[in-house]
Amino acid sequence: MEMMADDDAGETLKPLVFRLHENAPAVIREVLLERGWTEFDQKEQDDTDWNLYWRSSPFPMTDHHSIKPWQRLNHYPEAVRITRKDYLARHLKRMKGAYGSTLYEFSPVAFIMPNDYVKFIAEYSKERQSVGRPSYWICKPVHLSRGRGILIFQDIKDLVYHCTVIVQKYISNPLLISGYKLDLRLYVCVTSFCPLTIYTYEEGLVRFATEKFDLSSLDNVYAHLTNTSINKYGASYKTYKEGIGCGCKWTFSKFRSYLRIFGVDDMLLWQKMNNIVILTLLAITPLPEASNCFELFGFDILIDDKFKPWLLEVNYNPALRLDCSIDDTVKRKLLHDIVELLNYKQVDTHRQNEMPGSKAVRRQVPWRRTGQSTPEEAPGLLSARKVSACISASQTQPALQFARGSIHKVSALTRKTARARPRETLTSQLRKKMNMPKASSQVKTEAKNKQLSGVHSPFISAQLSRWSPSPEVCNYKLSTRPYFLSDKDQMPTRQVGGFVLIFPFNEAALQASKDGTDVKSIIKEINKLVSKQNSTRQKKAQAV
Ligand code: ADP
Repeated sequence: MEMMADDDAGETLKPLVFRLHENAPAVIREVLLERGWTEFDQKEQDDTDWNLYWRSSPFPMTDHHSIKPWQRLNHYPEAVRITRKDYLARHLKRMKGAYGSTLYEFSPVAFIMPNDYVKFIAEYSKERQSVGRPSYWICKPVHLSRGRGILIFQDIKDLVYHCTVIVQKYISNPLLISGYKLDLRLYVCVTSFCPLTIYTYEEGLVRFATEKFDLSSLDNVYAHLTNTSINKYGASYKTYKEGIGCGCKWTFSKFRSYLRIFGVDDMLLWQKMNNIVILTLLAITPLPEASNCFELFGFDILIDDKFKPWLLEVNYNPALRLDCSIDDTVKRKLLHDIVELLNYKQVDTHRQNEMPGSKAVRRQVPWRRTGQSTPEEAPGLLSARKVSACISASQTQPALQFARGSIHKVSALTRKTARARPRETLTSQLRKKMNMPKASSQVKTEAKNKQLSGVHSPFISAQLSRWSPSPEVCNYKLSTRPYFLSDKDQMPTRQVGGFVLIFPFNEAALQASKDGTDVKSIIKEINKLVSKQNSTRQKKAQAV
């Protein structure tokens, strides 16, 4: 790819420049180099001579204050408000109180310990006294990640903690595929908190536990936790697991194909997950004002056997390690698409205040002027077509680096052989619980063909693989006045690579997110949206 070029005036064009803080994942460097960017050299270059600064921890506020029009930072100030488990629990509880539990019932009931100890005991005792089976609970240290220090229990005498933890209702009826628990890692990019602008990524990771789900062995981490950082050390990780394959990951595309084979409405699931994302992010608005930054969140979503999605947590710096080929496929393209979303222009390569265009200080990253076509390409700016070529051409597999020590501690504490109790297959569960007709012969044939053609390929059924914008967004496109045309004649780009705009989702939501976020009005719009989604679902069900 061309790194340097001469423009018409004979002036040498410069490539875009990235700056990585220590510990930034290797794949970020690889992707940016693939795109023709160069790496910032502190000794040689001026302090402001870069376009993208990526770091794993929050930026000092001085970095936000001194941001230049050609620069982007990969964090918003205070985005951690939803990425620490206790903060998230607190925010969602507040939103539940303010806007009703119907909308906000997507997060399992949680108590922050030791503060909420008395409340937890009250809930625990109430449940014990009520008829039916007592609940299961999961205890998670608030400052740890990757499944470290987690404990699942049913009897309070087993609850032990030495730091601040959240004790959360354990979803004990997860969706199982061939007996294995799974959860979804959904990538979400917020390109602006004011006006709120949210994109979700169509492709993502389905992360499996590597031993069969079994409520009689609560201390088997390989059966109950879906973290790759744990399961890659499980005895069954590398072996072929019936219905799942080797390893512990699928792509969303493959998962959606799987659901469709069994007649599950994957679009409805997608809409519900998008609603969760919007409602969660609304919980932390307003954030302090900051320009030219973005945030990539990893939403962990567990689906239960009634296909209800539950939000488990939101990750700051979702893992970008490449542990397997599926990671490589998903994360590399994700990073390319993030760069596309950042909407760099030719003028950004100059990195000087006095350059034409750069005086339009602090433009919001995702908003483009109406009628504007794709920005002209600068060195390091790739079109979507070039991105895919770039990805397939890449052979690089960075070495895996992982702090094994901490994981071993958890495994040593909790590893026991799971008592494998074969559970019902997804097919039979689905039919029973959703009262569904048997799969049609056409679908069956499709399923069979997929099995024959290697159902474990991450590239399965490319045609089915798109989780397109929700129907509401599509409808707006078809209406006479597209929702994204605001009074100021600006619009957020509806789709960039695999990123789909989910907020604002209509004109009213757009208006309510301008000049400060009017959460109440937005919630009203979401309520309308949800009832519309529900009635569409009912109509569909009646038609069947
Ligand atoms: P961490 O930050 O340590 O990864 P998570 O909240 O993501 O913590 O939990 C780790 C794993 O534990 C999840 O990926 C999921 O498999 C399981 N898990 C967490 N919370 C619940 C829950 N409430 N119900 C069922 N499983 C859960």
